[in-house]
Amino acid sequence: MSSVAFLGLGAIGRPIAKRIAAAGLPLVVWNRTAERARALAAEAHVRPAATPAEAARDADVTITCLPTSPDVESLLDGDDGLLRGMRSGATLVDCTSGDPTTSQRIARRLAERQIDYLDAPVSGGVSGAEKGALTVMVGGDAAVLARVRPVLETFGQKIVHCGAIGTGDALKAANNAMLAVHIWSLAEALALLVKAGVSPQVALDVINASSGRSNTSMNLFPERVLTRAFPRTFRLALLDKDIGIAADVAREERVPAPVLQLTAALFRVAHNALGDIADHVETVKLIEQWAGVEIA
Ligand code: NDP
Repeated sequence: MSSVAFLGLGAIGRPIAKRIAAAGLPLVVWNRTAERARALAAEAHVRPAATPAEAARDADVTITCLPTSPDVESLLDGDDGLLRGMRSGATLVDCTSGDPTTSQRIARRLAERQIDYLDAPVSGGVSGAEKGALTVMVGGDAAVLARVRPVLETFGQKIVHCGAIGTGDALKAANNAMLAVHIWSLAEALALLVKAGVSPQVALDVINASSGRSNTSMNLFPERVLTRAFPRTFRLALLDKDIGIAADVAREERVPAPVLQLTAALFRVAHNALGDIADHVETVKLIEQWAGVEIA
């Protein structure tokens, strides 16, 4: 049985860590704000650690789940850093929705110490994490994935090897870029329909039986926009980051992607307007403001 360290108990990291603990794997957790690690220790079978190095010291598998790849890279160095704590033969699995270039650099630095690395971003949201039903998209060596798969299976239902290091990140960014496009385009469509005299309930009823439908139209808008609930489960700041990564990869790969570049620019505007703690679906409020209507 693998012993595990988990770093980053945020909106999605916390329920993932709880799944690992509930599966009975020995788990040490670390969080930048230590209180969150102590709070988890009070309700789950985990041991809080004072530093990343301490958390990773006895772990076969160390999992990180932070906002960005540079945040993960910043945990490598220093006396308290992962490079001090992790032993050779161990594996770092990064569940951050990261960027391929930084992941490849992290992997090279770890390889110098015989530590394996996988980029392993997840989809399925907080509710998927709570149910252990995430999709995990993995970049790196297939043999390393085979070794850590039992750990990933405690929170992931669909675990897919995507290719070399960085391909999990690229796939996650492309998926979330499509989510961003869906949110923006559906909000524009519903704003024009409300102005043209169609109720958003009627509009969604028809769209969801027609070719314009998506998870955004079938689930996100009915549950979060029409109800005006706008629960905060996935920060707009993080979706802004994800579509920015997709736009960067398109540029680096010389793929013309004007819709993604424009959507990245629009989400940067929304992030600046709505702030760091707004949920991604709250982007709709900006489009409503521009149109002078409420989609409700
Ligand atoms: P949150 O913003 O809720 O949490 C971020 C976590 O990272 C917190 O534990 C925070 O610590 C920690 N952190 C932030 N910056 C640093 C840093 N520089 N050094 C160390 N720790 C840091 O994010 P989420 O949990 O929502 O997202 C985590 C990752 O998962 C992101 O890449 C996101 O894109 C991805 N993701 C999120 C989903 C969701 O539904 N929320 C779905 C799929 C992927 P502290 O407590 O001190 O603030």
